[in-house]
Amino acid sequence: MDYKDYIPYGCQSIDEDDIASVCSVLRSDWLTTGPKVAQFEQAIANYVGARYAVAVSSGTAALHCAMYALRLKPGDEVIVPPITFAATANCVCYMGGKPVFADVEPDTLLMSPDEVEKKITSKTRAIITVDYAGQPCDYDKFQVLAKKYGLTLIADSCHALGAKYKGKKVGSLADLTVFSFHPVKHITTGEGGAIVTDNEELAERVKKFRNHGISFDFHHREKIGSWFYEIEELGYNYRITDIQCALGISQLKKLSKFLEKRREIAKQYDNSLKDIRGISPLVVKDNIFHAYHLYVVRVDPLLTGVDRKELFKKMRENGIGVNVHYIPVYLHPYYRKRFGYDFGLCPVAEAAYEEILSLPIFPEMKEIEVERVVSILKQSIFIK
Ligand SMILES: *Cc1c(COP(=O)(O)O)cnc(C)c1O
Repeated sequence: MDYKDYIPYGCQSIDEDDIASVCSVLRSDWLTTGPKVAQFEQAIANYVGARYAVAVSSGTAALHCAMYALRLKPGDEVIVPPITFAATANCVCYMGGKPVFADVEPDTLLMSPDEVEKKITSKTRAIITVDYAGQPCDYDKFQVLAKKYGLTLIADSCHALGAKYKGKKVGSLADLTVFSFHPVKHITTGEGGAIVTDNEELAERVKKFRNHGISFDFHHREKIGSWFYEIEELGYNYRITDIQCALGISQLKKLSKFLEKRREIAKQYDNSLKDIRGISPLVVKDNIFHAYHLYVVRVDPLLTGVDRKELFKKMRENGIGVNVHYIPVYLHPYYRKRFGYDFGLCPVAEAAYEEILSLPIFPEMKEIEVERVVSILKQSIFIK
């Protein structure tokens, strides 16, 4: 057999260089807060074209840091999309803020700038966009909105490391951009994340928050004694280790190859799915370099004779690790109870949720595995 019994929806790629890189740290003096952290941060900043990068323990920690950096206060509102991983909205709640959901566009499932504008109130402080599936959102329009209403633009680009919008890399298009290095993402550090920005003050606040809220004023330290530090505001331990960053440095060198592979697989799906009625990939806009964290199709139950739920079951039974990204965040019990959200809030997202299916995509996926996914998809839709 040329394919595994089970094809997962996503999977990391680790080679001997990655392993050697990690082992060398284990033999060194620094396991955390050492030179590999700084080196990884510099590499990420250079790669995306931002002045500062701060690496932290996860993408979720990175989002929390971003909320702290902009001094979000209890009662402040932040506009977020419903079709995303819950961490995009959870980070607002960590600070006592209120996530306000703006509906997505039906063809791309990216948050609609028009819907965002409708949700802006006097309490709105920021917008968190999501480059869903690896397609950059409409940054031009969001930048205009942020400027017009005096809001901070935060990009949750956990799906989109390496993606480009009108030739510009994601990471250089918002006030703060967040990445995740979880194993299913484009590169991995095991767990890990980063915040990138051109704003020095925001970068400094992120660093402070990552390390218990400790500030080091070097002049003051010299005067008082070198043991001296001050907790100015409450922070956390969101540090990342040198062990993880060594893996990240090694992985980043392979990112362009990983992206190329993801894009080839997506192309193969595009071509193979063209003549299957009722299975439609999401639309890719012009002037976009898609990073294909996910390959998402919509399943039309009338044209295929199966609904998404049935199709999901059949694919899984046949060893295809399909998934659903995502349940609209506000429909989770926590959000319903805490904010009173309910069905009907974002009708486009709710309708999409019934139809979306993520097909397997990861750099080491073979052509024959893509063929197998498509063939099982074909079998599953015409049999009732
Ligand atoms: C993965 C992901 C996160 C969280 O990242 P972790 O590293 O798993 O904490 C946040 N937002 C989105 C959109 C993600 O896909």
